[in-house]
Amino acid sequence: MTTPIDLRSDTVTKPSTAMREFIANCQVDDDVIDIDPTVAALQELIAEMTGKEAAIFMPSGTMTNQVGLRIHCRPGDEFICEAGCHIYNYEQGAYASLSGLSPSLIAGDNGILQPEQLLGSIKADNEHFPITKLLCLENTHNRGGGRVQPYENVKQICHWAHENGLKTHLDGARLFNAVAATGISAKEWSSHFDTVSICFSKGLGAPVGSALCGTKEQMYYARRHRKVFGGGMRQAGVIAAGALFALQNNVERMHQDHENAQQLATIINNTEGLSLPGPVDTNIVMMDIDENIGTAAAVAGELDSQGVRCLALGPQRIRLVTHLDVTSEQVSTACEIISTTVKEVLAGSRKLSGNGAQY
Ligand SMILES: *Cc1c(COP(=O)(O)O)cnc(C)c1O
Repeated sequence: MTTPIDLRSDTVTKPSTAMREFIANCQVDDDVIDIDPTVAALQELIAEMTGKEAAIFMPSGTMTNQVGLRIHCRPGDEFICEAGCHIYNYEQGAYASLSGLSPSLIAGDNGILQPEQLLGSIKADNEHFPITKLLCLENTHNRGGGRVQPYENVKQICHWAHENGLKTHLDGARLFNAVAATGISAKEWSSHFDTVSICFSKGLGAPVGSALCGTKEQMYYARRHRKVFGGGMRQAGVIAAGALFALQNNVERMHQDHENAQQLATIINNTEGLSLPGPVDTNIVMMDIDENIGTAAAVAGELDSQGVRCLALGPQRIRLVTHLDVTSEQVSTACEIISTTVKEVLAGSRKLSGNGAQY
């Protein structure tokens, strides 16, 4: 069998030869004692791209988000976020265990929040309630199927938050996908937020790392919190170099992933038994499976055995993600395998056997 077409996530990319060479040749130093020059160059570049004074490099997006929360809130405070967001669903409840915070959840439409949904969401000054300090948005929205928050909504929601004394944090793990999809720069998107988290290990194709961006003062505290969360890294230039290379080389090409995602969207629309729960804006495609075909986990298991890897994200929902290590031809092949498999199952000529995992 040929190499699997891995559509489980945009985190599965491997550093290219050119990236590995760049990494091999980078200058390093102890970034805890003082500063590693490659980390410094990366921090400077991402701060400039997001229009912020400073940035701090960390090992993961979970850490940049959690340090972001820690900067803005004290134990007992509350933050407002969308119910399907990564900070609430996929970070082990770290806001509670690490920082003593509680979330106030508002359900969006595939992750998209409308400004009027926020009205009345700030708790009154009353000893029964936590103090509402922060509003978090996610763009693009992972669980929402890579949806881009409409720019006007972001602007209005953040304006409302600041008018009402809240701070704002953007989980921009995939902000560059939103940039590629809209032509609105990272700087413009970021201008509405106090702090912004960016992942280099998603669609940008670096092996490791994220950055938190904000004011110099905020980043002074971010560096302290990073240390206590276990994220002080010594010769971190070896991983920052991958992220720096990614920012310099892999931003412009990102629209290709979005075009490839459209191929998947088309085949899903045209295959009986499959449907899209919402529009496909970027590189994430959610595929809903009719119950008469089988469960998402069983379909994912079957596709896996045919060389197409994907994740079951719900009882009847599969997630497919395009990225820089899958070509347009490979995505076409994946489309054929998906549609043939579903047709054969519905015609009774193929049985689903194995049971893949559900996330
Ligand atoms: C991947 C991701 C993160 C961070 O994940 P790590 O695995 O900790 O780097 C944060 N937010 C969103 C929306 C993500 O998709």
